[in-house]
Amino acid sequence: MAKLKIDVNDLHKSYGKNEVLKGITTKFYEGDVACIIGPSGSGKSTFLRTLNGLEVITSGTVIVDGFDLSNKKTDLNQVRQEVGMVFQQFNLFPNMTVLDNVTYAPLELKKMTKTEAHDKALDLLKKVGLEDKADAMPEMLSGGQKQRVAIARALAMDPNLMLFDEPTSALDPEMVGDVLKVMQDLAKEGMTMLIVTHEMGFARKVANRVIFTDGGEILEDSTPDQLFDKPQHPRLKDFLNKVL
Ligand code: ADP
Ligand code: MG
Repeated sequence: MAKLKIDVNDLHKSYGKNEVLKGITTKFYEGDVACIIGPSGSGKSTFLRTLNGLEVITSGTVIVDGFDLSNKKTDLNQVRQEVGMVFQQFNLFPNMTVLDNVTYAPLELKKMTKTEAHDKALDLLKKVGLEDKADAMPEMLSGGQKQRVAIARALAMDPNLMLFDEPTSALDPEMVGDVLKVMQDLAKEGMTMLIVTHEMGFARKVANRVIFTDGGEILEDSTPDQLFDKPQHPRLKDFLNKVL
């Protein structure tokens, strides 16, 4: 039995009067590669952000890698060391070289010595196909290259799980494949990954689970074949008709 990594129970999240998550209950296990799909505004980003403490939970429980995020005493910095996150907009430090972007957190949080952090960063840049860009500034990179640096930066902390929020949505089409390839390699290595994406081909090929959310609820959660070939919920059928 795979290890339980994320345990979410009746999670509600409101912004003022706007209830954005309306009782999410789900579990993720070690090695799960789950793609989360659904219309814009359905709460996908909010859900991901609750999983590393970027959003305060309104009610319910969220336990990530043994840390209870519903408990105010939980040290969120500790949680975030275990949970890597990659955003649509890369969020690289613009005034640092690629290498410094990747070594920054491990050095700052004293997780590694300078030599270790440096060697590890070069390994990771190699893994994402950017070892020759170590000394470049982010502004010199394409969007796809920036996103691969952002993935390397998240991996530099040796996270236990990775969250991706539309990692390829801001990219020119010809850049998307390289980023998805890096993610597919990570999945093959057994990384636990939750990926909000509109890349249905990727979801079908790489995910073991696909989750459809709409209106702040999970309406369907099944294998890619089941979800794409035999969608049950009318709103999922409607959504797939629009995007496929
Ligand atoms: P998705 O990622 O599926 O497009 P979001 O989680 O970004 O959806 O947003 C869900 C809803 O929550 C939207 O109605 C959005 O306007 C609202 N929302 C998201 N973030 C905030 C915020 N920081 N403050 C207020 N409302 C927000
Ligand atoms: Mg979003």
